Amino acid sequence: TEALLRQSQKMEAVGQLTGGIAHDFNNMLTGVIGSLEVMKRRIANQRYDDLDRFMNAAITSAQRAAALTHRLLAFSRRQSLDRKPTDVVPLIESMRDLLSRTLGEQISLETVLPADSWQAITDANQLENAILNLAINARDAMPEGGQLIIQVANKTLSGRDIRGIDGAVVGDYLRVSVIDTGEGMAPEVIDKAFDPFFTTKPIGQGTGLGLSMIYGFVRQSGGHVEIESALGNGTTVSLYLPRNAKTWAPSATDIGVVTTPMG
Ligand code: ADP
Repeated sequence: TEALLRQSQKMEAVGQLTGGIAHDFNNMLTGVIGSLEVMKRRIANQRYDDLDRFMNAAITSAQRAAALTHRLLAFSRRQSLDRKPTDVVPLIESMRDLLSRTLGEQISLETVLPADSWQAITDANQLENAILNLAINARDAMPEGGQLIIQVANKTLSGRDIRGIDGAVVGDYLRVSVIDTGEGMAPEVIDKAFDPFFTTKPIGQGTGLGLSMIYGFVRQSGGHVEIESALGNGTTVSLYLPRNAKTWAPSATDIGVVTTPMG
């Protein structure tokens, strides 16, 4: 739990960092565009005397921007996945305290966890982060309070269309759904929600990185992310994590569901 708290503080720091980077990058682009515009005007007026100077300024700015993106790419590559067969139910149970503290008193937390759930193949740390981030998004969508449900289910998909995925999805997945009774999302927000830096939150509050990082991690795990939402109707974000086939439990689908209300 402590590690997770530190991790969420780190996420916040990463958010501020990326905000700063976006700002720097924008400044560099402004430098390139400014120099090119001066050059364009001068060429139109046939003033070729010191075009060099503006050309060099544009090149220097563009090179700085390229160096910055290289550093960013190197940074993001470092976060490689540690995929292992993972028992997700105890992982979620161990997050209860952190989650209810994060949600505050206005939001009730409920978990629907099957007694007999499949193992998923995933990175446990990244999954914890993803669930915490989804809970934070849900909290932000329920400023007046509401309910958050985390539901785990064994799901065999036989040709299900998942928004944003080409073709129907087939296979055995452990589905982790984070369901809120919040303000919901308009269709155009759902379409952009996975884009890095897309946020509808005020500057300083949203980084627009939460869902894009979750999407990246789940896709890298061989899974899928689905958003079901409508304005005024709450939001369900489901992570479909590939099942670890070695521990087949044929009777498991949605049987023995345990519902535990939490304060
Ligand atoms: P951030 O939370 O920093 O804005 P995200 O990538 O996590 O970045 O989310 C992108 C956007 O998707 C949010 O700004 C919000 O508009 C929308 N969104 C995400 N989760 C929810 C939710 N549970 N309810 C309503 N809108 C949401």
